[in-house]
Amino acid sequence: MKTINDYNFENKKALIRVDFNVPQDENLNVTDDTRIRAAKPTIDKILQQGGAVILMSHLGRPKGEFNDKYSLKHIASSVSEILGLEVIVANDVIGDDAKQKVNNLKPGQVLLLENVRFHAEEEKGDKDFAKALAAFGDIYVNDAFGTAHRAHASTAVIAEFFPENKCFGLLMEQELTAINKVLADGEKPVTAILGGAKVSSKITIINNILPVIDNLIIGGGMTYTFVKAKGGKIGNSLVEDDKLELAKEILIECEKHNVKVYLPIDNVIADNFSNDANREVTNVGEIPDGWMGMDVADETIKQNAEVIKNSKTILWNGPLGVFEMSNFAKGTVTLGDAIAEATKNGAFSLVGGGDSVAFVKQFGYDDKVSYVSTGGGAMLESLEGKELPGVAAILN
Ligand code: AMP
Repeated sequence: MKTINDYNFENKKALIRVDFNVPQDENLNVTDDTRIRAAKPTIDKILQQGGAVILMSHLGRPKGEFNDKYSLKHIASSVSEILGLEVIVANDVIGDDAKQKVNNLKPGQVLLLENVRFHAEEEKGDKDFAKALAAFGDIYVNDAFGTAHRAHASTAVIAEFFPENKCFGLLMEQELTAINKVLADGEKPVTAILGGAKVSSKITIINNILPVIDNLIIGGGMTYTFVKAKGGKIGNSLVEDDKLELAKEILIECEKHNVKVYLPIDNVIADNFSNDANREVTNVGEIPDGWMGMDVADETIKQNAEVIKNSKTILWNGPLGVFEMSNFAKGTVTLGDAIAEATKNGAFSLVGGGDSVAFVKQFGYDDKVSYVSTGGGAMLESLEGKELPGVAAILN
């Protein structure tokens, strides 16, 4: 895996694809700068070596035309603040202003190009557009894990124009190493915890990870499709009736792969989908009509904690209950505690994919697990075993 550590950037212009697709408030101020911070180590290292940096990113979905709301100039002050230097801002992507500012760029300086998605050619993966961008740099660096699952001009196609001079940034390296630590060389026992709403959105992940995991902890809404498939009573719980056969097949596949499955034993049920609903605790397969399973309960929490305590590698995707409602967050919070404890005792823990990251941040677990992925969709696709175009473009 070639990274920026394999190059000397002195007097070189590094063309870096970053993912600065950050959330903003109504005045376009950045409300969460995690993605900008995540790119800082790569940018800093190149600048320290005496290189110049040209940053390319998208922001939002401007649909191929200029739209001030999506201009990267609105995030430039945040980038400057985080990098601790003045960032030069281009008014266009591959136009005269960008060209002139690239030509005048000196070692130690940073230039931020306009939103690459102001050109429809970006998302189409257009070669000419990629070539025009490529002309700006000596070395192409991809540090945009969050968009690595897209075969766009600046994330993948552009790499063709740098047959020798293309590499991963440090964030990409970290993300890929973390995935490998679980999927390729995870120390055993390897435990995956899959929660969230639906079996249908996790089935590809399950199929892909079965050969490498030892334990599968299931929770969240998808529990009830499994429980119903096994003949349990689930009341009004979330269920995918067209996935009952699939749930049975998954359990058989787990057995074939010697994967121990831990379905919830008991759960907190509610008489409607609201934080103020009446609550009871029952076994998972004994939910009365009119009630629904909203969170795992104490027996399950104990069972999960025991499995996690004995794991050396942990992968976590998806909540174990409706954590957005405080009365149904306990199962997910205590799971976070168990993973934090195992991590402290030497296990490697990776949290990622979809919304899991929002949860760990909201509850302060981001510093207590080994790695929190910055790429929701890209991490999900990696866990599903798909080759990410942004990764393949550098490796091949
Ligand atoms: P996902 O994006 O598939 O990881 O699903 C996350 C969502 O699953 C969260 O918004 C949770 O509220 C929801 N969820 C978790 N447990 C349950 C449950 N028992 N019933 C309904 N929704 C749930």
